[in-house]
Amino acid sequence: MSAPTPYTATAEEAYLDRLLAARLLLPTNLPGIYARGSAFTQLMEGLERAITRYGRTESTQILRCPPVLPRSIVEKCGYFQSFPNLLGCMCCFTGGTTEHEALLSAVDSGADLLPHLELSDVVLAPAACYYVYPYLTGTLPQAGKTTDIENWCYRHEPSLNPMRMRAFRMREFVHAGTPEQALGFRDSWIERAQAFLARLGLSATVAPADDPFFGAGERLMAAQTLKFELLIPIVSDTRPTAVMSSNYHKDHFGHLFDIRTPDGAAAHTTCIGFGMERIVLALLAQHGLQLSKWPTALREHLGLA
Ligand code: ATP
Ligand code: ZN
Ligand code: MG
Repeated sequence: MSAPTPYTATAEEAYLDRLLAARLLLPTNLPGIYARGSAFTQLMEGLERAITRYGRTESTQILRCPPVLPRSIVEKCGYFQSFPNLLGCMCCFTGGTTEHEALLSAVDSGADLLPHLELSDVVLAPAACYYVYPYLTGTLPQAGKTTDIENWCYRHEPSLNPMRMRAFRMREFVHAGTPEQALGFRDSWIERAQAFLARLGLSATVAPADDPFFGAGERLMAAQTLKFELLIPIVSDTRPTAVMSSNYHKDHFGHLFDIRTPDGAAAHTTCIGFGMERIVLALLAQHGLQLSKWPTALREHLGLA
């Protein structure tokens, strides 16, 4: 019997080094914050188009929003209870001339800037779908409603693992309707997601997931959420990466945002999320960092020149 593969904490870091050397990602001086180079951007664009073709129907509502979100929305959704450690809050300078001088001397001396700034009314979106629910308030059509949203997301989880960025893009299809409609949507997408990834040459397994909720929010949220992840071994068989996830929130957002089915009941909601960068990183690991050597059918599927 062969010995288990030793844990190499640097397999992810080694992959990051290769991505940077190939200028797929460009570094900043911060962990988890990267610019995207030409090839990476072409892959992101191709992936976006492939998802649109695959997931959008005539009745899908399309929503594109700023990367900042009213703070009131995440407060209402309990994000401070569940993931206070991940949230990026915006601060702004609101003072006058005197306060400006104090700010500048703090900048010059490298002192803490926070005393000179004020917490603003926006946060960086931690997930794409938070923008959707407030716009669903009211009565849904008989068939329920599906929304297509993509947004930049921020999570404060600095890391040298390229699969764990601080700023990344998330595409989601969110469905609101009766419990049967929401569950039907969720179940069909778990299968469809695997087929979508298979078409990209990626083999994903499905596994139930628990998020590490913070403190007291844990039991409440765990009871409200049913989550599945699609996992791909990008750099390690023992530490596969979640490239997509599906969440069923039951009537949590239906109650919070007064979203109703035609019979007046609180709507049930579910979302399927595509981790855009992670899918691109899985593609690069699977097919190689040189796009010109990828299979022709795949290049055509992604619309690569
Ligand atoms: P993980 O368990 O890996 O932290 P998550 O459960 O926090 O992932 P979700 O909240 O389900 O992730 O977000 C939806 C999708 O967004 C994930 O399936 C993943 O593909 C992507 N994603 C989440 N966090 C990151 C990140 N830090 N960098 C890049 N993509 C991410
Ligand atoms: Zn979501
Ligand atoms: Mg996470």
